[in-house]
Amino acid sequence: MKRVLVKILFLSFVTFTSCESEPIDSYTTENTDNLQTVSNKNSEIAFPEKFGTIETITYNGKNLKVERIEDNYILDGDIIIPVKKVNQKATGRTKNRWPRGVVFYNIQSTLTNKQRIFDAIKHWEQKTKIKFVRRSNQPNYVTFRSGSGCSSSVGMIGGQQFITLSAACSTGNTIHEIGHAVGLWHEQSRKDRDKFITINFNNIQDNARFNFFSYPQIFNADGNEYSPFDIGSIMMYGPYFFSKNGQPTITRKNGSIYNVNRRALSPKDIEGVRRMYFNDILETGRVLRKGQFLNSKDGRTYFRILSNGNLVAFRDSKIVWQSKTAGTSSNRLVMQRNGNLVLYNTNNRPTWSSSTGGNNNVKLILQNDGNIVLRSGTGKAIWSTKTANIN
Ligand SMILES: [Zn+2]
Repeated sequence: MKRVLVKILFLSFVTFTSCESEPIDSYTTENTDNLQTVSNKNSEIAFPEKFGTIETITYNGKNLKVERIEDNYILDGDIIIPVKKVNQKATGRTKNRWPRGVVFYNIQSTLTNKQRIFDAIKHWEQKTKIKFVRRSNQPNYVTFRSGSGCSSSVGMIGGQQFITLSAACSTGNTIHEIGHAVGLWHEQSRKDRDKFITINFNNIQDNARFNFFSYPQIFNADGNEYSPFDIGSIMMYGPYFFSKNGQPTITRKNGSIYNVNRRALSPKDIEGVRRMYFNDILETGRVLRKGQFLNSKDGRTYFRILSNGNLVAFRDSKIVWQSKTAGTSSNRLVMQRNGNLVLYNTNNRPTWSSSTGGNNNVKLILQNDGNIVLRSGTGKAIWSTKTANIN
């Protein structure tokens, strides 16, 4: 899995609610062709019987094609971006995380077959450490509601957000939509997907092509891949989704088709969510490689080696600490058995260290207070970024 992605970007579109046109960067209607009927079993479609317009929005200098239906932009068929919601300025990916992995929710009383929601939530709670709690007065929450198709926003948007379920959406579809709400993009939107699958654009309905772009192509987003590509992910499209001619739209690299999973989170889905939400400790003997993340449980602080070799701690997307090794080939951070935390370059030379050798069972911990701390086996802090309580 996992693209995980996260992001959202979209939060920085401005609002188009009624009449005002207050484009973010710019906004044009490219064409108004109707979407063709979608007849893919198992595919999640937000508004299966409605025809939207395909619009191009420029975001961060990139053109983004989305489908607009009523007051929503629809991406990838079932990802909803509420048009009127978006007037906050860009959020980092961490802002789209549910703090401590707790998702507050309520259910519209008129929604039929609530059992599929209870079953999907139970599945998520059995397989991951994400918790689902009935909302009392929390400001950020998901409302499960009836409506057309199956759809969700990606990540925690802020305020009320929706998972919409028509009568046809199964428990498996609900597990998938909860995956979006938790922060997962579709598996085929990963930036490395072309190594594993072939997208047959010639077979895709003309107005659905944007559903098959990778998230960097569509969003210029800062998503991340938390576990290896998984064709069995519950977030993976089926091989015939959005086909215009009965031929597959996605195949494996060897041209073969595969089974779509809308039954359960796959093992890699589960691992990806764990790394995304609960990867806050680097234990003795473990390595953080360039491109990987460590993140605090509340998702606000994360630690990573940038492509320029700099080891950086971010808090709410702002740099709060760094190793000052930019310009080196540093590519891995090792929690050594002697208690020293060391950054190495591609020549296996240290480029930075915490100078804490001589301690046992040391762990690097990303705390919710914003501090990143090395603690010895006795719990004593032996090094820290001294960034506690930065808010
Ligand atoms: Zn989806």
